[in-house]
Amino acid sequence: MSTKIVIVGAGVSGLTTASLLSKDPRYAVTVVAKHMPGDYDIEYASPWAGANYTPFGARDDAPGRWERSTWPVLQRIAQDHPEAGLHFLGGNIHHGLRTGTDICPDNIICTESTKATADLWYEEFMPNFEHLPREHLPPGVESAHKFTSVCINTAIYLPWLVGQCAKKGVVFKRGVFTHIEDAVHAHASGSKADVVVNCTGLSSKVLGGVMDDRLYPARGQTVLVRNDPGPMIAAAKTSDGEDEMTYIMTRAAGGGTVLGGSYQKNNWDALPDPHLAHRIMQRAIRLNPHLVGEGRGVEGLDIIGHRVGLRPVREGGPRVERDEVNGIAVVHNYGHGGSSWGIHRVPEIWGDDAEEFRPERWLNPDTHRDLSMVVFIQSRRDTDDLSKNGSILPSGADPAFVWVKLAGDVQGASGTKCKGIS
Ligand SMILES: Cc1cc2nc3c(=O)[nH]c(=O)nc-3n(C[C@H](O)[C@H](O)[C@H](O)COP(=O)(O)OP(=O)(O)OC[C@H]3O[C@@H](n4cnc5c(N)ncnc54)[C@H](O)[C@@H]3O)c2cc1C
Repeated sequence: MSTKIVIVGAGVSGLTTASLLSKDPRYAVTVVAKHMPGDYDIEYASPWAGANYTPFGARDDAPGRWERSTWPVLQRIAQDHPEAGLHFLGGNIHHGLRTGTDICPDNIICTESTKATADLWYEEFMPNFEHLPREHLPPGVESAHKFTSVCINTAIYLPWLVGQCAKKGVVFKRGVFTHIEDAVHAHASGSKADVVVNCTGLSSKVLGGVMDDRLYPARGQTVLVRNDPGPMIAAAKTSDGEDEMTYIMTRAAGGGTVLGGSYQKNNWDALPDPHLAHRIMQRAIRLNPHLVGEGRGVEGLDIIGHRVGLRPVREGGPRVERDEVNGIAVVHNYGHGGSSWGIHRVPEIWGDDAEEFRPERWLNPDTHRDLSMVVFIQSRRDTDDLSKNGSILPSGADPAFVWVKLAGDVQGASGTKCKGIS
């Protein structure tokens, strides 16, 4: 008999989860969502994203590991599935640019030096990775490197994921839940689901049974234009405010060019701010005058639309863990903030590959409790204050020690090697 799984949410997190689970015929998957690909709504972050893959995690934290495991998958999709709406784009990253500098050469990502840039751990796997010679750098730039990444046209990729799921028998339904436990009755079979996967993004802040007050929005405003500066990802710091930035992304398959943007914490405003839009367009033209041609300004942009989305950011990092809500097995996968497209392959949930995935381990809390503990600890490794984050660790415990111990327990309890958590 198949394991019945209900996934709540059809953003990139829910659809990726469904697509991987549905590769195994033992799982009968139903996706239930308020919004589906094709909808544009402020409560639905995924359609608004650029979306570009650039690692933001660190070598040894959970997001960093997820980004590492995601890259080969995105690379394979971009190579083998042109219909999925991904394409490769070269991008340069410059570090150490002074705050207030917003002029960069073409095809360049400029950021300030950060902890993440001190250790370029992703040079081990990003294609065409190269350090740029210092003498070639613009004034104010301390160091630079370049590599090939991908840009994802969300208007194509999200429906493509739906298609991948549908081919494997996933059933899609519209529905709105006020409490996560209600989802257990939404399986297409009519029977109670064995597991509910919560991929509701920012809505987990208000969803009954979850109510996660660590979630907050980071508002992103963009302008989508028909102008085509050529394949590029370019970005720079801006002097227009700490919560504004400049980026240009050419999307695959006629997706237009995305001009960004902003990262406005705790701002819920769904309407585009016309002043911000003007600043975004002006900065994009300064960053790359080829957008509009010699001597032209904002009037040279052919605007498709002004857009606003809310990134689901979570204080302490994304929540990826097993939970139990009124006796129902719930797995949470939300709060990925501004980098979901880079970390949406989360080995803790499904293993490195679909073949590794064993949702049975979510079902029996007695035999699998330790696994959920490992997941919990891993997803908090980017924060020092484990007790503040509701960790199950005893106070004063050394996370590294407990990690090793529990990983051993899991392997003993399940009798299988749990790749992806070792
Ligand atoms: C402007 C902008 C630019 C971005 N750029 C990038 C980028 O370049 N690279 C990158 O990696 N990331 C980027 N992001 C972030 C990324 O897009 C988000 O992290 C991601 O889309 C979140 O996906 P999700 O599936 O978790 O949530 P969502 O896409 O918000 O999906 C939530 C789903 O849950 C459903 N739902 C919610 N509540 C309920 C309920 N009660 N009942 C039923 N269904 C419910 C919704 O209808 C929806 O289907 C960007 C975001 C924005 C806004």
